[in-house]
Amino acid sequence: MTEVGRTRRAVVLLSGGMDSTVSLAEARAAGFDAHALSFDYGQRHRAELDAAARVAKALGAARHVIVRLDLRAFGGSALTADIAVPKDRIGHEASATEIPVTYVPARNTIFLSVALGYAETVGASDLFIGVNAIDYSGYPDCRPEFIEAFEHMANLGTKMGAEGTRVRIHTPLARLSKREIVERGVALGVDFGLTLTCYDPITRDGHATPCGHCDACILRAQGFAAAGVADPTPSRRIDIPRP
Ligand code: ZN
Repeated sequence: MTEVGRTRRAVVLLSGGMDSTVSLAEARAAGFDAHALSFDYGQRHRAELDAAARVAKALGAARHVIVRLDLRAFGGSALTADIAVPKDRIGHEASATEIPVTYVPARNTIFLSVALGYAETVGASDLFIGVNAIDYSGYPDCRPEFIEAFEHMANLGTKMGAEGTRVRIHTPLARLSKREIVERGVALGVDFGLTLTCYDPITRDGHATPCGHCDACILRAQGFAAAGVADPTPSRRIDIPRP
């Protein structure tokens, strides 16, 4: 997609998991020059960052930036503090009132805020985030109402918004089931073997493999099973360069 001969730029939040990877693929398919943004926030599933780097490269991101923002400074989540990640929960997604301990306080508000600053810097008025409101973990900052409110704020609180450029937050997966996300990824040619979707991966000898038991692993497995697609990740060993 071009605008007066200029490629439109977008900032894409990229964790390295399946959802953000399909979100990046959607941004690229829509013709955006994608600036991928990941966070090293002290998460226990930091192996995802290496997956994010692979995905950014494979999907032709113009740039991949990793911002260090250590949320362990205040913890408060099973992903950033010494709190056990829930395992083998069945039917948890049906209980919409319960927000799991893997919720990271205000994470998407924090991430989108940084993404907005990056977007203004590179002249991008489009942001992509792979939130999903169907098969999701009950996080309030994945809801469409939150995204709409953030978009409204983004148009009020930025130079580009004040000068008349409309800031848009794209959520291409918002209304998709996990099965549909897998199918969409397959249609877009995503190599899911590059991704890592696990809150608590097992790392050994510099390699990470999904635990297979956390909510993220279970939702992913359910999505692949429903789509009738074999998940290439469990049988793969994923390199992690970090000590
Ligand atoms: Zn897991």
